[in-house]
Amino acid sequence: MLEVLNPATEEVVERLEPATEGDADAAVARAREAYPAWRALEPADRSRLLRRLADALDAEHENLARLESKNTGKPIGDSRGEMGMVAETFHYYAGMPERLLGDTIPVSGGVDVTFREPLGVVGLIVPWNFPLTIASWKMAPALAAGNTLVLKPAELTPLTALEFERIALEAGMPEGVVNVVVGPGSKVGKRLVEHPDVAKVAFTGSTEVGKGIMAEAAGTIKRVTLELGGKSANVVFADADLEKAAASAPVAVFGNAGQDCCARSRILVERGVFDEFLSLMEPAVTGMRVGDPFDEGTEMGPLISADHRERVASYVPEDAPVAIRGQAPEGSGFWYPPVVLAPVDNKDRAAAEEIFGPVVAVIPFEDEDDAVRLANDTIYGLSGSIWTENGARALRVARRIETGVISINSNTSVRVATPFGGMKQSGVGRELGPHALDLYTEVKNVYLSTEED
Ligand code: NAP
Ligand code: MG
Repeated sequence: MLEVLNPATEEVVERLEPATEGDADAAVARAREAYPAWRALEPADRSRLLRRLADALDAEHENLARLESKNTGKPIGDSRGEMGMVAETFHYYAGMPERLLGDTIPVSGGVDVTFREPLGVVGLIVPWNFPLTIASWKMAPALAAGNTLVLKPAELTPLTALEFERIALEAGMPEGVVNVVVGPGSKVGKRLVEHPDVAKVAFTGSTEVGKGIMAEAAGTIKRVTLELGGKSANVVFADADLEKAAASAPVAVFGNAGQDCCARSRILVERGVFDEFLSLMEPAVTGMRVGDPFDEGTEMGPLISADHRERVASYVPEDAPVAIRGQAPEGSGFWYPPVVLAPVDNKDRAAAEEIFGPVVAVIPFEDEDDAVRLANDTIYGLSGSIWTENGARALRVARRIETGVISINSNTSVRVATPFGGMKQSGVGRELGPHALDLYTEVKNVYLSTEED
Protein backbone atom coordinates (compact mmCIF):
# COMPACT_ATOMS: atom_id res chain seq x y z
CA MET A 1 0.00 0.00 0.00
CA LEU A 2 1.28 3.46 -0.87
CA GLU A 3 1.04 5.82 2.12
CA VAL A 4 0.80 9.47 1.11
CA LEU A 5 2.11 11.78 3.85
CA ASN A 6 1.65 15.37 4.92
CA PRO A 7 5.30 16.47 5.26
CA ALA A 8 4.38 19.19 7.76
CA THR A 9 2.94 16.65 10.24
CA GLU A 10 4.22 13.27 9.00
CA GLU A 11 0.59 12.05 9.12
CA VAL A 12 -0.73 9.63 6.51
CA VAL A 13 -3.35 11.53 4.50
CA GLU A 14 -4.20 8.83 1.95
CA ARG A 15 -3.55 5.14 1.27
CA LEU A 16 -3.47 4.03 -2.37
CA GLU A 17 -2.91 0.76 -4.17
CA PRO A 18 0.16 1.53 -6.33
CA ALA A 19 -0.19 0.90 -10.06
CA THR A 20 1.79 -1.83 -11.82
CA GLU A 21 3.30 -2.06 -15.29
CA GLY A 22 0.05 -3.75 -16.32
CA ASP A 23 -1.94 -0.73 -15.14
CA ALA A 24 0.37 1.52 -17.18
CA ASP A 25 -0.26 -0.65 -20.25
CA ALA A 26 -4.02 -0.43 -19.66
CA ALA A 27 -3.84 3.37 -19.37
CA VAL A 28 -1.87 3.58 -22.63
CA ALA A 29 -4.49 1.36 -24.29
CA ARG A 30 -7.31 3.66 -23.09
CA ALA A 31 -5.43 6.72 -24.36
CA ARG A 32 -4.80 5.03 -27.70
CA GLU A 33 -8.46 4.16 -28.08
CA ALA A 34 -9.53 7.72 -27.31
CA TYR A 35 -6.96 9.28 -29.66
CA PRO A 36 -8.65 9.09 -33.11
CA ALA A 37 -11.84 10.83 -31.93
CA TRP A 38 -9.98 13.46 -29.89
CA ARG A 39 -7.68 14.23 -32.77
CA ALA A 40 -10.58 14.42 -35.23
CA LEU A 41 -12.57 16.92 -33.17
CA GLU A 42 -13.11 20.26 -34.89
CA PRO A 43 -10.53 22.68 -33.46
CA ALA A 44 -13.31 24.93 -32.15
CA ASP A 45 -14.88 22.00 -30.29
CA ARG A 46 -11.57 20.99 -28.73
CA SER A 47 -11.17 24.62 -27.68
CA ARG A 48 -14.61 24.66 -26.10
CA LEU A 49 -13.91 21.51 -24.05
CA LEU A 50 -10.58 22.85 -22.83
CA ARG A 51 -12.23 26.14 -21.88
CA ARG A 52 -14.82 24.25 -19.83
CA LEU A 53 -12.01 22.39 -18.11
CA ALA A 54 -10.22 25.70 -17.38
CA ASP A 55 -13.46 27.10 -15.89
CA ALA A 56 -13.83 23.96 -13.75
CA LEU A 57 -10.25 24.44 -12.50
CA ASP A 58 -11.15 28.01 -11.52
CA ALA A 59 -14.18 26.72 -9.63
CA GLU A 60 -12.04 24.10 -7.80
CA HIS A 61 -9.22 26.55 -7.07
CA GLU A 62 -9.41 26.54 -3.27
CA ASN A 63 -10.03 22.78 -3.07
CA LEU A 64 -6.96 22.09 -5.22
CA ALA A 65 -4.80 24.61 -3.34
CA ARG A 66 -5.63 23.03 0.03
CA LEU A 67 -4.98 19.54 -1.29
CA GLU A 68 -1.62 20.60 -2.77
CA SER A 69 -0.56 22.16 0.54
CA LYS A 70 -1.67 19.10 2.50
CA ASN A 71 0.42 16.82 0.29
CA THR A 72 3.54 18.98 -0.20
CA GLY A 73 3.62 21.17 2.93
CA LYS A 74 3.91 24.31 0.81
CA PRO A 75 2.38 27.51 2.23
CA ILE A 76 -1.28 27.89 1.30
CA GLY A 77 -0.59 31.28 -0.32
CA ASP A 78 1.93 29.63 -2.65
CA SER A 79 -0.50 26.83 -3.50
CA ARG A 80 -3.20 29.38 -4.35
CA GLY A 81 -0.77 31.10 -6.71
CA GLU A 82 0.20 27.79 -8.31
CA MET A 83 -3.39 26.59 -8.77
CA GLY A 84 -4.15 29.98 -10.34
CA MET A 85 -1.39 29.26 -12.85
CA VAL A 86 -2.78 25.77 -13.53
CA ALA A 87 -6.15 27.23 -14.55
CA GLU A 88 -4.48 30.06 -16.48
CA THR A 89 -2.38 27.52 -18.41
CA PHE A 90 -5.56 25.74 -19.53
CA HIS A 91 -7.23 29.06 -20.44
CA TYR A 92 -4.18 29.98 -22.53
CA TYR A 93 -3.90 26.70 -24.45
CA ALA A 94 -7.69 26.46 -24.86
CA GLY A 95 -7.20 29.20 -27.46
CA MET A 96 -4.59 27.23 -29.40
CA PRO A 97 -6.40 24.51 -31.38
CA GLU A 98 -7.46 27.10 -33.96
CA ARG A 99 -4.03 28.70 -33.99
CA LEU A 100 -1.91 25.68 -34.97
CA LEU A 101 -0.82 27.33 -38.18
CA GLY A 102 1.33 25.76 -40.88
CA ASP A 103 3.45 27.33 -43.63
CA THR A 104 2.99 27.89 -47.33
CA ILE A 105 6.40 27.52 -48.97
CA PRO A 106 7.23 28.78 -52.47
CA VAL A 107 8.44 25.89 -54.64
CA SER A 108 8.52 25.36 -58.39
CA GLY A 109 5.88 23.28 -60.14
CA GLY A 110 3.36 23.19 -57.34
CA VAL A 111 2.19 24.23 -53.90
CA ASP A 112 3.89 23.21 -50.67
CA VAL A 113 2.12 23.43 -47.32
CA THR A 114 2.88 22.17 -43.83
CA PHE A 115 0.53 20.85 -41.15
CA ARG A 116 1.18 20.49 -37.45
CA GLU A 117 -0.14 17.12 -36.47
CA PRO A 118 -0.50 15.59 -33.02
CA LEU A 119 1.90 12.82 -31.98
CA GLY A 120 -0.59 10.34 -30.53
CA VAL A 121 -0.39 9.13 -26.93
CA VAL A 122 2.05 11.11 -24.81
CA GLY A 123 3.50 9.99 -21.47
CA LEU A 124 4.00 12.76 -18.91
CA ILE A 125 6.23 12.13 -15.89
CA VAL A 126 6.40 14.84 -13.23
CA PRO A 127 8.14 15.50 -9.88
CA TRP A 128 6.84 16.31 -6.39
CA ASN A 129 7.91 19.95 -6.01
CA PHE A 130 5.18 21.66 -8.10
CA PRO A 131 2.96 18.62 -8.71
CA LEU A 132 -0.10 19.89 -10.57
CA THR A 133 1.55 23.04 -11.92
CA ILE A 134 4.25 21.18 -13.84
CA ALA A 135 1.69 18.59 -14.99
CA SER A 136 -0.49 21.40 -16.39
CA TRP A 137 2.40 22.84 -18.42
CA LYS A 138 2.50 19.49 -20.23
CA MET A 139 -1.16 18.46 -20.28
CA ALA A 140 -2.65 21.69 -21.62
CA PRO A 141 -0.52 22.05 -24.79
CA ALA A 142 -0.57 18.26 -25.37
CA LEU A 143 -4.38 18.20 -25.34
CA ALA A 144 -4.74 21.43 -27.34
CA ALA A 145 -2.60 19.89 -30.09
CA GLY A 146 -4.85 16.82 -30.26
CA ASN A 147 -2.86 14.25 -28.26
CA THR A 148 -4.22 11.99 -25.54
CA LEU A 149 -2.15 11.43 -22.43
CA VAL A 150 -1.04 9.29 -19.53
CA LEU A 151 0.20 11.29 -16.56
CA LYS A 152 2.45 9.77 -13.90
CA PRO A 153 2.76 12.01 -10.85
CA ALA A 154 5.49 11.44 -8.26
CA GLU A 155 4.45 8.82 -5.72
CA LEU A 156 5.04 11.32 -2.92
CA THR A 157 2.49 13.78 -4.34
CA PRO A 158 -0.27 12.13 -6.39
CA LEU A 159 -3.34 13.77 -4.83
CA THR A 160 -3.94 16.81 -7.05
CA ALA A 161 -3.29 14.75 -10.20
CA LEU A 162 -6.01 12.29 -9.16
CA GLU A 163 -8.34 15.19 -8.37
CA PHE A 164 -7.56 16.69 -11.77
CA GLU A 165 -8.60 13.45 -13.50
CA ARG A 166 -11.99 13.64 -11.77
CA ILE A 167 -12.41 17.35 -12.63
CA ALA A 168 -11.53 16.72 -16.28
CA LEU A 169 -14.14 13.97 -16.64
CA GLU A 170 -16.81 16.03 -14.87
CA ALA A 171 -16.03 18.99 -17.12
CA GLY A 172 -16.84 16.85 -20.14
CA MET A 173 -13.47 15.60 -21.35
CA PRO A 174 -14.09 12.33 -23.20
CA GLU A 175 -13.15 9.07 -21.42
CA GLY A 176 -9.58 7.98 -22.06
CA VAL A 177 -8.20 11.37 -23.11
CA VAL A 178 -6.69 12.09 -19.67
CA ASN A 179 -5.34 9.09 -17.69
CA VAL A 180 -3.52 9.27 -14.36
CA VAL A 181 -1.43 6.34 -13.10
CA VAL A 182 0.10 6.46 -9.63
CA GLY A 183 3.00 4.07 -9.16
CA PRO A 184 6.76 3.96 -8.78
CA GLY A 185 8.87 5.66 -11.44
CA SER A 186 11.16 2.65 -11.71
CA LYS A 187 8.20 0.53 -12.87
CA VAL A 188 5.27 2.64 -14.11
CA GLY A 189 7.40 5.56 -15.37
CA LYS A 190 9.86 3.19 -17.00
CA ARG A 191 7.01 1.33 -18.72
CA LEU A 192 5.75 4.58 -20.29
CA VAL A 193 9.25 5.31 -21.58
CA GLU A 194 9.66 1.89 -23.22
CA HIS A 195 6.05 1.43 -24.40
CA PRO A 196 5.87 1.21 -28.23
CA ASP A 197 2.46 2.94 -28.31
CA VAL A 198 3.69 6.02 -26.46
CA ALA A 199 4.92 8.50 -29.07
CA LYS A 200 6.64 10.89 -26.71
CA VAL A 201 7.70 11.27 -23.10
CA ALA A 202 7.80 14.68 -21.46
CA PHE A 203 9.72 14.47 -18.21
CA THR A 204 10.44 16.92 -15.42
CA GLY A 205 12.71 15.74 -12.65
CA SER A 206 16.32 15.15 -11.78
CA THR A 207 19.13 15.23 -14.33
CA GLU A 208 20.12 11.72 -13.22
CA VAL A 209 16.73 10.14 -13.99
CA GLY A 210 16.47 12.29 -17.14
CA LYS A 211 19.66 10.76 -18.52
CA GLY A 212 18.25 7.27 -18.03
CA ILE A 213 15.00 8.25 -19.76
CA MET A 214 16.86 9.70 -22.73
CA ALA A 215 18.85 6.47 -23.11
CA GLU A 216 15.80 4.24 -22.70
CA ALA A 217 13.77 6.27 -25.22
CA ALA A 218 16.30 5.37 -27.91
CA GLY A 219 14.79 1.88 -28.03
CA THR A 220 11.66 3.16 -29.79
CA ILE A 221 13.09 6.48 -31.16
CA LYS A 222 10.62 8.12 -28.82
CA ARG A 223 10.43 11.90 -28.76
CA VAL A 224 11.72 13.18 -25.43
CA THR A 225 11.63 16.53 -23.73
CA LEU A 226 13.38 17.04 -20.43
CA GLU A 227 13.13 19.71 -17.76
CA LEU A 228 15.90 18.87 -15.31
CA GLY A 229 17.94 20.32 -12.49
CA GLY A 230 19.51 23.73 -12.05
CA LYS A 231 22.13 25.67 -10.12
CA SER A 232 21.13 29.14 -11.22
CA ALA A 233 23.15 32.27 -10.56
CA ASN A 234 21.75 35.45 -9.06
CA VAL A 235 24.35 38.01 -10.21
CA VAL A 236 24.51 41.20 -8.15
CA PHE A 237 26.66 44.07 -9.47
CA ALA A 238 27.88 46.86 -7.20
CA ASP A 239 25.76 49.35 -9.14
CA ALA A 240 22.51 47.46 -8.40
CA ASP A 241 19.68 48.60 -6.15
CA LEU A 242 21.28 46.53 -3.39
CA GLU A 243 18.41 46.81 -0.93
CA LYS A 244 15.94 45.51 -3.46
CA ALA A 245 18.26 42.72 -4.63
CA ALA A 246 19.04 41.67 -1.03
CA ALA A 247 15.40 41.73 0.05
CA SER A 248 14.33 39.35 -2.72
CA ALA A 249 17.39 37.06 -2.85
CA PRO A 250 16.23 34.86 0.09
CA VAL A 251 12.78 34.25 -1.41
CA ALA A 252 14.47 33.44 -4.74
CA VAL A 253 16.14 30.43 -3.16
CA PHE A 254 14.09 29.60 -0.05
CA GLY A 255 10.74 29.75 -1.84
CA ASN A 256 9.15 26.26 -1.86
CA ALA A 257 11.83 25.46 0.76
CA GLY A 258 14.44 25.62 -1.99
CA GLN A 259 12.82 22.68 -3.81
CA ASP A 260 12.63 24.67 -7.01
CA CYS A 261 14.56 23.90 -10.19
CA CYS A 262 14.75 27.68 -10.77
CA ALA A 263 16.13 28.43 -7.29
CA ARG A 264 18.86 31.08 -7.46
CA SER A 265 21.03 28.84 -5.30
CA ARG A 266 24.29 30.64 -6.15
CA ILE A 267 24.37 34.34 -5.34
CA LEU A 268 27.33 35.97 -7.11
CA VAL A 269 28.15 39.34 -5.54
CA GLU A 270 30.70 41.90 -6.74
CA ARG A 271 33.50 41.88 -4.17
CA GLY A 272 33.28 45.58 -3.23
CA VAL A 273 29.71 45.17 -1.89
CA PHE A 274 29.95 41.55 -0.66
CA ASP A 275 29.74 42.26 3.10
CA GLU A 276 27.16 45.01 2.67
CA PHE A 277 24.98 42.65 0.63
CA LEU A 278 25.13 39.91 3.29
CA SER A 279 24.14 42.38 6.03
CA LEU A 280 21.25 43.67 3.93
CA MET A 281 20.09 40.08 3.34
CA GLU A 282 20.27 38.97 6.96
CA PRO A 283 16.90 40.27 8.26
CA ALA A 284 15.03 38.64 5.37
CA VAL A 285 16.65 35.28 6.27
CA THR A 286 16.38 35.35 10.06
CA GLY A 287 12.89 36.83 9.86
CA MET A 288 11.60 34.27 7.39
CA ARG A 289 8.43 32.67 8.77
CA VAL A 290 8.91 28.90 8.54
CA GLY A 291 6.00 26.79 9.84
CA ASP A 292 2.40 25.65 9.46
CA PRO A 293 1.52 25.70 5.74
CA PHE A 294 -2.08 26.62 6.56
CA ASP A 295 -1.09 29.70 8.55
CA GLU A 296 -1.67 32.59 6.11
CA GLY A 297 1.58 34.33 7.12
CA THR A 298 3.85 31.35 6.49
CA GLU A 299 6.58 31.90 3.91
CA MET A 300 8.33 28.52 3.96
CA GLY A 301 7.11 25.01 4.73
CA PRO A 302 8.93 21.73 5.40
CA LEU A 303 10.99 19.64 3.00
CA ILE A 304 9.18 16.85 1.16
CA SER A 305 10.54 13.83 3.08
CA ALA A 306 12.91 12.61 5.78
CA ASP A 307 15.29 11.20 3.14
CA HIS A 308 15.40 14.48 1.30
CA ARG A 309 16.08 16.40 4.52
CA GLU A 310 19.04 14.13 5.22
CA ARG A 311 20.40 14.80 1.74
CA VAL A 312 20.01 18.57 2.14
CA ALA A 313 21.69 18.50 5.56
CA SER A 314 24.72 16.74 4.05
CA TYR A 315 25.56 20.03 2.31
CA VAL A 316 25.91 21.77 5.68
CA PRO A 317 28.57 19.79 7.59
CA GLU A 318 29.97 20.93 10.96
CA ASP A 319 32.69 23.03 9.32
CA ALA A 320 30.45 24.67 6.70
CA PRO A 321 30.85 28.48 6.43
CA VAL A 322 27.37 29.29 7.79
CA ALA A 323 27.00 33.09 7.62
CA ILE A 324 23.27 33.28 8.43
CA ARG A 325 20.86 30.64 9.75
CA GLY A 326 17.10 31.14 9.98
CA GLN A 327 14.47 29.47 12.14
CA ALA A 328 12.56 26.21 11.75
CA PRO A 329 9.98 24.47 13.96
CA GLU A 330 10.97 21.44 16.04
CA GLY A 331 9.05 18.17 16.37
CA SER A 332 7.17 16.26 13.73
CA GLY A 333 7.44 17.45 10.14
CA PHE A 334 10.45 17.44 7.83
CA TRP A 335 11.67 20.91 8.86
CA TYR A 336 14.95 22.51 7.90
CA PRO A 337 15.97 26.16 8.41
CA PRO A 338 17.11 28.56 5.70
CA VAL A 339 20.94 28.58 5.59
CA VAL A 340 23.30 31.06 3.90
CA LEU A 341 26.84 29.83 3.23
CA ALA A 342 29.43 32.57 2.60
CA PRO A 343 31.96 33.03 1.21
CA VAL A 344 31.93 29.89 -0.95
CA ASP A 345 34.24 28.86 -3.79
CA ASN A 346 32.34 28.03 -6.99
CA LYS A 347 34.13 24.64 -7.07
CA ASP A 348 32.86 23.63 -3.61
CA ARG A 349 30.22 20.89 -3.47
CA ALA A 350 27.58 23.31 -2.12
CA ALA A 351 28.12 25.56 -5.17
CA ALA A 352 28.49 22.84 -7.78
CA GLU A 353 25.62 20.44 -6.97
CA GLU A 354 21.88 21.02 -6.92
CA ILE A 355 20.90 20.87 -3.23
CA PHE A 356 17.15 21.34 -3.79
CA GLY A 357 16.73 22.70 -0.26
CA PRO A 358 16.97 26.04 1.59
CA VAL A 359 20.74 26.35 1.38
CA VAL A 360 22.38 29.09 -0.67
CA ALA A 361 26.04 29.64 -1.57
CA VAL A 362 27.22 33.26 -1.79
CA ILE A 363 30.27 33.72 -4.01
CA PRO A 364 32.33 36.89 -4.62
CA PHE A 365 33.34 38.03 -8.14
CA GLU A 366 35.80 40.66 -9.41
CA ASP A 367 34.29 42.14 -12.59
CA GLU A 368 31.82 41.51 -15.41
CA ASP A 369 33.94 38.86 -17.15
CA ASP A 370 34.51 37.04 -13.87
CA ALA A 371 30.77 37.11 -13.12
CA VAL A 372 29.96 35.57 -16.52
CA ARG A 373 32.72 32.96 -16.14
CA LEU A 374 31.45 31.88 -12.70
CA ALA A 375 27.78 31.91 -13.76
CA ASN A 376 28.63 29.59 -16.67
CA ASP A 377 30.96 27.33 -14.69
CA THR A 378 28.27 24.70 -14.04
CA ILE A 379 26.78 21.72 -15.86
CA TYR A 380 23.36 23.40 -15.59
CA GLY A 381 21.69 26.29 -17.44
CA LEU A 382 18.07 26.74 -16.41
CA SER A 383 17.39 30.13 -14.89
CA GLY A 384 19.06 33.12 -13.22
CA SER A 385 18.98 36.84 -12.48
CA ILE A 386 21.08 39.94 -13.05
CA TRP A 387 20.89 42.97 -10.80
CA THR A 388 22.35 46.25 -12.13
CA GLU A 389 21.13 49.76 -12.89
CA ASN A 390 23.17 49.75 -16.11
CA GLY A 391 20.81 48.65 -18.88
CA ALA A 392 23.48 47.96 -21.50
CA ARG A 393 25.43 45.79 -19.08
CA ALA A 394 22.25 43.93 -18.08
CA LEU A 395 21.52 42.95 -21.66
CA ARG A 396 25.18 42.20 -22.44
CA VAL A 397 25.48 39.82 -19.49
CA ALA A 398 22.05 38.27 -20.16
CA ARG A 399 23.24 37.32 -23.65
CA ARG A 400 26.50 35.83 -22.34
CA ILE A 401 25.06 33.61 -19.60
CA GLU A 402 24.32 30.09 -20.85
CA THR A 403 20.80 29.66 -19.54
CA GLY A 404 17.31 29.12 -20.94
CA VAL A 405 15.64 31.81 -18.83
CA ILE A 406 17.04 34.92 -17.16
CA SER A 407 15.49 37.94 -15.44
CA ILE A 408 16.88 41.43 -15.04
CA ASN A 409 16.19 43.13 -11.71
CA SER A 410 13.70 40.39 -10.87
CA ASN A 411 13.82 36.85 -9.54
CA THR A 412 10.81 35.50 -11.41
CA SER A 413 11.16 32.68 -13.95
CA VAL A 414 7.89 31.40 -15.32
CA ARG A 415 4.98 32.99 -17.14
CA VAL A 416 2.24 31.14 -19.00
CA ALA A 417 2.87 33.02 -22.25
CA THR A 418 6.69 32.81 -22.37
CA PRO A 419 9.05 29.90 -23.10
CA PHE A 420 10.64 28.06 -20.18
CA GLY A 421 13.37 25.41 -20.25
CA GLY A 422 17.04 24.68 -19.89
CA MET A 423 20.33 24.74 -21.73
CA LYS A 424 23.17 22.27 -21.11
CA GLN A 425 22.26 19.51 -18.62
CA SER A 426 19.15 21.38 -17.48
CA GLY A 427 17.17 19.86 -20.30
CA VAL A 428 15.84 19.71 -23.83
CA GLY A 429 12.84 21.68 -25.13
CA ARG A 430 10.82 24.71 -24.05
CA GLU A 431 7.53 24.54 -22.18
CA LEU A 432 4.82 27.21 -21.92
CA GLY A 433 4.09 29.99 -24.42
CA PRO A 434 3.49 29.14 -28.07
CA HIS A 435 6.79 27.19 -28.07
CA ALA A 436 5.32 24.29 -26.08
CA LEU A 437 3.10 23.37 -29.02
CA ASP A 438 6.25 22.40 -30.95
CA LEU A 439 6.83 19.71 -28.33
CA TYR A 440 3.46 18.09 -28.95
CA THR A 441 3.20 18.30 -32.73
CA GLU A 442 5.06 16.87 -35.68
CA VAL A 443 5.43 18.87 -38.90
CA LYS A 444 4.01 17.21 -42.00
CA ASN A 445 5.03 18.55 -45.38
CA VAL A 446 2.56 18.16 -48.27
CA TYR A 447 3.42 18.94 -51.88
CA LEU A 448 0.74 19.29 -54.54
CA SER A 449 1.82 19.41 -58.16
CA THR A 450 0.16 22.07 -60.30
CA GLU A 451 1.78 20.87 -63.54
CA GLU A 452 -0.66 20.51 -66.42
CA ASP A 453 0.38 16.99 -67.43
P1 NAP B 1 13.09 12.41 -9.93
O1 NAP B 1 13.55 11.52 -8.86
O2 NAP B 1 13.88 12.52 -11.16
O3 NAP B 1 11.60 11.94 -10.29
C1 NAP B 1 10.78 12.63 -11.19
C2 NAP B 1 9.70 11.70 -11.69
O4 NAP B 1 10.27 10.62 -12.42
C3 NAP B 1 8.87 11.05 -10.59
O5 NAP B 1 7.53 10.94 -11.02
C4 NAP B 1 9.52 9.68 -10.46
O6 NAP B 1 8.65 8.71 -9.93
C5 NAP B 1 9.84 9.39 -11.91
N1 NAP B 1 10.89 8.40 -12.12
C6 NAP B 1 11.88 7.99 -11.26
N2 NAP B 1 12.64 7.05 -11.84
C7 NAP B 1 12.15 6.84 -13.08
C8 NAP B 1 12.52 5.98 -14.17
N3 NAP B 1 13.57 5.16 -14.09
N4 NAP B 1 11.79 6.03 -15.30
C9 NAP B 1 10.75 6.88 -15.42
N5 NAP B 1 10.34 7.70 -14.41
C10 NAP B 1 11.05 7.68 -13.27
O7 NAP B 1 12.90 13.89 -9.43
P2 NAP B 1 12.22 14.37 -8.09
O8 NAP B 1 13.06 13.87 -6.97
O9 NAP B 1 10.78 13.99 -8.08
O10 NAP B 1 12.26 15.95 -8.26
C11 NAP B 1 13.38 16.72 -8.02
C12 NAP B 1 14.14 17.05 -9.29
O11 NAP B 1 13.28 17.60 -10.29
C13 NAP B 1 15.20 18.10 -9.10
O12 NAP B 1 16.43 17.68 -9.68
C14 NAP B 1 14.69 19.33 -9.85
O13 NAP B 1 15.66 20.19 -10.32
C15 NAP B 1 13.91 18.72 -10.92
N6 NAP B 1 12.91 19.67 -11.42
C16 NAP B 1 13.11 20.30 -12.63
C17 NAP B 1 12.19 21.22 -13.09
C18 NAP B 1 12.38 21.91 -14.40
O14 NAP B 1 11.41 22.41 -14.93
N7 NAP B 1 13.56 21.96 -14.96
C19 NAP B 1 11.08 21.51 -12.34
C20 NAP B 1 10.90 20.88 -11.12
C21 NAP B 1 11.83 19.94 -10.68
P3 NAP B 1 8.58 8.34 -8.34
O15 NAP B 1 9.22 9.43 -7.59
O16 NAP B 1 7.12 8.22 -8.09
O17 NAP B 1 9.28 7.04 -8.18
MG1 MG C 1 13.43 11.35 -6.70
